[in-house]
Amino acid sequence: MTDFSMALNEDQTTLQAWVHGFAEQVMRPAAHEWDEREETPWPFIQEAAKIGIYSLDFMANAFSDKTGLSMMLALEELAWGDAGLCMALMGTTLGVAAIMGNGTPEQQMEWVPQCFGTPDDLKLAAFGVSEPDAGSDVGSLRTRAVYDAATDEWVLNGTKTWITNGGIANLHVIVASVDPELGSRGQASFIVPEGTKGIRMGQKFKKMGIRASHTAEVILEDCRVPGKCLLGGKEKLDEKLARVREGGKASSQAAMATFEATRPAVGAQALGIARAAYEYALDYAKERHQFGRAIIENQSIAFKLADMKVQIDAARLLVWRASWMAATRQPFLNGEGSMSKLFAGETAVKVTEEAIQILGGYGYVREYPVERWHRDSKIYTIFEGTSEIQRLVIARSISGVHIK
Ligand SMILES: Cc1cc2nc3c(=O)[nH]c(=O)nc-3n(C[C@H](O)[C@H](O)[C@H](O)COP(=O)(O)OP(=O)(O)OC[C@H]3O[C@@H](n4cnc5c(N)ncnc54)[C@H](O)[C@@H]3O)c2cc1C
Repeated sequence: MTDFSMALNEDQTTLQAWVHGFAEQVMRPAAHEWDEREETPWPFIQEAAKIGIYSLDFMANAFSDKTGLSMMLALEELAWGDAGLCMALMGTTLGVAAIMGNGTPEQQMEWVPQCFGTPDDLKLAAFGVSEPDAGSDVGSLRTRAVYDAATDEWVLNGTKTWITNGGIANLHVIVASVDPELGSRGQASFIVPEGTKGIRMGQKFKKMGIRASHTAEVILEDCRVPGKCLLGGKEKLDEKLARVREGGKASSQAAMATFEATRPAVGAQALGIARAAYEYALDYAKERHQFGRAIIENQSIAFKLADMKVQIDAARLLVWRASWMAATRQPFLNGEGSMSKLFAGETAVKVTEEAIQILGGYGYVREYPVERWHRDSKIYTIFEGTSEIQRLVIARSISGVHIK
């Protein structure tokens, strides 16, 4: 006998229902306004902090579930509520994931609580990897980190782009090159704490979707951070660099380690958007009458809904599998993290487009949420690794061939 079960336990169903209630009562009514305003929704973040959804405790509890499912359940519900508002809460977790993935236990204890703050003194974190000339190609980062032994400080210079919470975050985790000749193996992650001089916001981007989430450039000009801000510590970095220079393998690449860990969570958000659009379209198709019958009575509409449901459920299984594997420390030998993000992201785009089709003209106008869900869905095939990069990871994993 095995103890395998696909049933959610009581803690999980309680969490799911609680987050769903918040999504339905707080997020849904606020979604349109913040999409139009295209600003950081501080009152909303504060509300989420007050009830504990935007907090270290919430993240720690959800992520400590040994099955790996709790966080996926919560994220699906939050993105079902609204993806832009969800990202306004979750941008911080990218920085947190970088600290948890690369920091020492002491660094985790010191910096992670500072990423959230308190309901009356909110804090945000950001994770800066992408640059104008280094998006998918994270090995070619130009941002440099140079050690100043006289002051025990790292000096950061460069421009980061497309950064969620960039420039408005209290704490930035910045990935920079310590030895450019070593590509991604010569990179390290640095905390830039609140109040540090030499870091500022560049342009803020106006986006197609997830517009309640702030996205901007981050400019680093002789930005000095104390030696203790190097995640993992200098001894470990020096050892890694020496090993790589001698032709050995690096244990992990700073940016990639963070992205691998967060991919199922990104997939779970895409899933939430897809489910929102599917549910809406299903209800609509039953109510809307043309030619004297509900439009769902036409196979062409009913079959679309059937396909949408199949794709959503398949995406959920891939997301849950990847998250369960990560929580039970099973390596992604076939790119399972990438599979979950790839399939869920592409499903969200397809399902939301079909939902627009089912609503006809009503799907295309802003009075109805479906066009927003489609705009929101598209980012899930772009950030945290484009669909092409996910396919590259999967193809390399299954073949062992260095496919370009
Ligand atoms: C709203 C938003 C939020 C973001 N948040 C963050 C953040 O918080 N932190 C952060 O660091 N970054 C963030 N990003 C950046 C995001 O991760 C990058 O946009 C993404 O990695 C793609 O990089 P790029 O835009 O430079 O595209 P490019 O890498 O230039 O890719 C362009 C096209 O070429 C394809 N391509 C590139 N290389 C290959 C290849 N080898 N094989 C096949 N196809 C390839 C890509 O798939 C894509 O279709 C964010 C982006 C957006 C839009």
